[in-house]
Amino acid sequence: MELDINKNMNIAKTSLPRVVIIGGGFAGLATINGLKDQEVQVVLIDKHNYHTFQPLLYQVATGGLEPDSIAYPLRKVIKDIPNFYFRLAEVSNIDTNKRKIHTNIGKLKYDYLIIATGSKTNYFGNTNIEKFSMAMKNVPQSLNLRSLILENFEDALLTSNLEERNALMNFVIVGGGPTGVELAGALAEMKKGILPKDYPDLDIRQMQINIVQGGRLLKAMSEKASEKAEDFLIKLGVNIYKSVHVTNYDGYNVETDTDLAFKSCTVIWAAGVSGELINGLEGECVIERAARIKVDEFNKVIGYKNIFAIGDIACMDTKEFPKGHPMMAQPAIQQGKHLAKNLIAQLENKDIRPFKYNDKGSMATIGRNKAVVDLPKWKFQGVFAWFVWMFVHLFSLIGFRNRAVVFFNWVYNYIRFDRETRLIIRPFKNKNKQSF
Ligand SMILES: Cc1cc2nc3c(=O)[nH]c(=O)nc-3n(C[C@H](O)[C@H](O)[C@H](O)COP(=O)(O)OP(=O)(O)OC[C@H]3O[C@@H](n4cnc5c(N)ncnc54)[C@H](O)[C@@H]3O)c2cc1C
Repeated sequence: MELDINKNMNIAKTSLPRVVIIGGGFAGLATINGLKDQEVQVVLIDKHNYHTFQPLLYQVATGGLEPDSIAYPLRKVIKDIPNFYFRLAEVSNIDTNKRKIHTNIGKLKYDYLIIATGSKTNYFGNTNIEKFSMAMKNVPQSLNLRSLILENFEDALLTSNLEERNALMNFVIVGGGPTGVELAGALAEMKKGILPKDYPDLDIRQMQINIVQGGRLLKAMSEKASEKAEDFLIKLGVNIYKSVHVTNYDGYNVETDTDLAFKSCTVIWAAGVSGELINGLEGECVIERAARIKVDEFNKVIGYKNIFAIGDIACMDTKEFPKGHPMMAQPAIQQGKHLAKNLIAQLENKDIRPFKYNDKGSMATIGRNKAVVDLPKWKFQGVFAWFVWMFVHLFSLIGFRNRAVVFFNWVYNYIRFDRETRLIIRPFKNKNKQSF
């Protein structure tokens, strides 16, 4: 978007304190909910006009869900709330001296600023991997991946070059966290139940799904969850390479720090994220390595008075989490809710309370009837875990319509062994495609 800081954002002048929230993700929305009916003006700014439910992006990429069912209009979130505004804009800079943010649609003054910009894919400085691999951090990227997967099979069907066909059907997923594991499981299910029917004239057995991972799978979860996930994936035919790091990819050759190498037209990079920083903050609050913003136990940005950071972008180092809370939905939601309470308390001259994370556990699904769940006092895997995973994800979605559509899709896919949104709506122009 082009930067034009002279434009007016058309926000009503007010005597109420103005709270500007950058980012309508899990953290931003939790704060919005907590500030409803309060004596504040709230301006939510996001570069997208919708909230994305990132945990289900992999189902969009593999044709299990339509993108609309995991996105929710931000304007609807604030609809009918007096003094709440939404502006579709990208924030480029924070002028902390003048208490203003700069966006591509104008500047805006704040009394309180809440940074909830989340995270972006981290390529750890490897520009080749950044250029040639696929990421899955937002809806457009998931749609690109969906198109590329399907285009690969269309191309594989037509080529008589065996090497090309194998590379087109060879999928390398880098990163064995929940995203990598869930994506691998979904691809394996496509291989088993859908692709052989869609491409009867192609030998789908040649399709390879590989996960390359530095340590064990799901390393943020228990060893049992990790072992079971590995077991499920192997049974689904996924190749798992542990203690291996991908070091380079040129659109065709995948190099690693071992003798292992692949020839693949599709590398999916799910190996890490870093904070989505905005220029303007200075000093010790910016953690360069992870690009996160250091906050105190009240989510206040270190060194600044009325600026707060919550969710993935915030790094609150505590005894239990010396490198900050996990970059997951629950810490984001809980920090957002907590900050709203503290802001209200501050405005009413009451005491504010430090944030305490309530770890409700974590989970990942590997496929039909297969999931792993780690609750604080109970760890379980298999069919029941899968139902729990579905229930939690369904009820975490925003909006009744989204829940209903996702529920219907899941039931339909379960009964019919199908994924009907395997559509190339917006072809992905793979500029890096090799010519054979
Ligand atoms: C593929 C995938 C799967 C995941 N699976 C799980 C899971 O199973 N369980 C789990 O707990 N977590 C999961 N996560 C992580 C979880 O989604 C994040 O931790 C969570 O979204 C963080 O919330 P947030 O509000 O901090 O940021 P986000 O939800 O990322 O929201 C940030 C918002 O800020 C906006 N924004 C960013 N920069 C700007 C700017 N400069 N100007 C304006 N707007 C801006 C963005 O458009 C976005 O709407 C997954 C993430 C991914 C990518």
